[in-house]
Amino acid sequence: GRPPLSGFPRMLVSGPPSPPSPPYRLGRLTLPIYLAVVGLGGTALLVALGLAADWSAVEIGLAHVTLAAFLVLGELMPIRVPGHEDEVNTSTSFSFALLLIVGLAPAAIAQAIASAAADVRLGKSLGSVLFNVGQYTISLAAAGVVLTLVAGDPLAAAALHPEDLPALLAAGATFFVVNNALAGAAYAIHARVPVVGHLFSDLSFQAWTATLVLGFSPVVIAVANYDAFLLPFLLLPLMAIYRAGREARLSEHQALHDQLTELPNRVLFRRCADEAIAAAAGGNTRVAVLIMDLNRFKEINDTLGHLHGDLLLQQVASRLRETVRVGDTVARLGGDEFAILLPRIGGIEGAELLAKRVLTALKQPVVINGVSLTVEASIGMACFPEHGDGVDVLVQRADVAMYVAKSARVGVQAYVEEQDDHSIERLELAAELRSAIDGGQMVLHYQPQLDLATGRLIAAEGLMRWDHPTRGLIPPDVFITLAENTGAIRQLTSRALVLAVSECRRWRQTGLSIGVSVNVSAQDALDEDLPHEIERLLARYDVPPSELELELTESMLMADPQRASSVLEALSAMGVRIAIDDFGTGYSSLAYLKRLPIDHIKIDRSFVMNMEIERNDALIVESTVDLARNLGLKTIAEGIENEECRARLAAMGCDVGQGFHFSRPVAPDAFLAWATDRVAAERLAA
Ligand code: C2E
Ligand code: CA
Ligand code: CA
Repeated sequence: GRPPLSGFPRMLVSGPPSPPSPPYRLGRLTLPIYLAVVGLGGTALLVALGLAADWSAVEIGLAHVTLAAFLVLGELMPIRVPGHEDEVNTSTSFSFALLLIVGLAPAAIAQAIASAAADVRLGKSLGSVLFNVGQYTISLAAAGVVLTLVAGDPLAAAALHPEDLPALLAAGATFFVVNNALAGAAYAIHARVPVVGHLFSDLSFQAWTATLVLGFSPVVIAVANYDAFLLPFLLLPLMAIYRAGREARLSEHQALHDQLTELPNRVLFRRCADEAIAAAAGGNTRVAVLIMDLNRFKEINDTLGHLHGDLLLQQVASRLRETVRVGDTVARLGGDEFAILLPRIGGIEGAELLAKRVLTALKQPVVINGVSLTVEASIGMACFPEHGDGVDVLVQRADVAMYVAKSARVGVQAYVEEQDDHSIERLELAAELRSAIDGGQMVLHYQPQLDLATGRLIAAEGLMRWDHPTRGLIPPDVFITLAENTGAIRQLTSRALVLAVSECRRWRQTGLSIGVSVNVSAQDALDEDLPHEIERLLARYDVPPSELELELTESMLMADPQRASSVLEALSAMGVRIAIDDFGTGYSSLAYLKRLPIDHIKIDRSFVMNMEIERNDALIVESTVDLARNLGLKTIAEGIENEECRARLAAMGCDVGQGFHFSRPVAPDAFLAWATDRVAAERLAA
């Protein structure tokens, strides 16, 4: 998520410090000039030191060569510390030791070679290589000067004594201060934050690491003086720290990243958003939080299997990564939900542009094991400071906007504060829906279906209501579409099936032999797992399959006739009944329906209720009844509100009737009482 550090000068501890705060004025050339002065100046100093040194007085032994080698090793293998983007360079332990035992010029040259080697390996630019060489040379030179000033003769340090301690401390402190100031200033100029403020920002960590690294030098010297052969043993503790650091970083990485996509997870996303908000606070930049959800991902997952689903998520992740800019954060929040953090934008338009780019990038078909899939997504956006001042509010509001985008099918939607109460209410409901289903807030009310010829109660339709803790009973037309558009419908249908089948068992246990019907949506009818689910359910409650009827609308059968018909065949083979709901409102022909295993046709209530006033509607009802009879299908009329309507339908030969005339849909207990009375009355009449 953070900008990569390429080309950045390294401190003793190097890495990007906390995000920049409000910009202040600096010329565009300030940074290049500064980098050039340190780089070229320091390198010139290095050359001068090399030329001026009295090399005949310098004895290069095995110990010195070994130390120089370790120095290079330390540069190439910086220790990574969890919780910090920074790295600790142990090379300094050895360059400082070299400074003390062989003098400034050899130490500076060894350090320059090591630093340049590491930088070249990392592919840094010539400018950065020079800057780092210059920075180290100046720092070592400053330390060397202080050492000479305090101790008199630097080479006297070849055998350390307690009296040398003040000189060591002074030289170490000088190295630390100069080195950090040189690198810190470069970053501060680059990020346009006050130099002094930045230098102190991570000071305790820097000082702590410097103490460890510099404080190790006397030990290195002692060992080198005792016997060069023992020097390699010094690497052991360093290797232990290196490995521990690597493992800690790895487990930190795992704790903060999603395993499947390698993207940051929710925790890391929140952390980045927190930082971005803190950095933007008070300034005139904004932070945008985008929440993205794939449309119909569950369908893909169910149809093609989880393996394909996982591969698809990985593809989506890499497209997101490619689409955002350096510095933006893409995270996977879970399932098919992703988040994007734009830490510095001018306005919401910028975020919208990016969101559209993301949607376009996703529209290119994804080919997975030869199957080509098109992914569509919905994105909701919220901005700091307009829409909230904390991560949680922003994520929640972006989520709300995402639901709007999804249900309105608009792709991208920014959060809007209650433009209209109705949509806000719907959004809140959408957000609560899944947990409400799991939390048992869904109830089925039952409406009786009677044989129109004999007047006998034969079945009941289960109609869903949401028993909301604060809003009371919510009717299905408010939340069914919501569930369909947010992918919660499958869960809802499963719930309806469990409620209906278990209630049917209760009826049977009290001696009522009536069937139950459940409404299913298009997405359910395409789920090849549905028949198995129903089979298990019926077995669990010991309810015969013929007692369960599923109501489907014609339009859902037309969506994917092939697949729907295979699901229906499986259900029908089990003995489960199928009814076509709302018949007459769609486009399907009876001829087509004939090829499907259908038992009942439910004539839409709009025709039934209008029969008295609209002659056409009466004709439609009558011809539907006739046609169905010719095809061997039974008809159910819904929406019977009075006796006249009932009598007319009975005369037409319609088989079953349902409507307020008999009973409104009522709660389970009320239905059981009504049904018991009704059946008792039937028996008396018989
Ligand atoms: P639907 O399947 O056509 O259900 C019949 C609707 O007609 C019910 O509305 C019922 O209360 C109403 N109704 C019954 N008799 C009369 C009458 O004589 N006059 C009038 N005016 N209306 C009558 P409800 O319960 O509000 O359900 C509305 C729709 O919500 C249902 O229409 C169905 O499409 C959907 N729905 C309900 N429960 C579920 C469910 O569990 N799953 C799914 N997928 N959809 C459901
Ligand atoms: Ca129905
Ligand atoms: Ca209906």
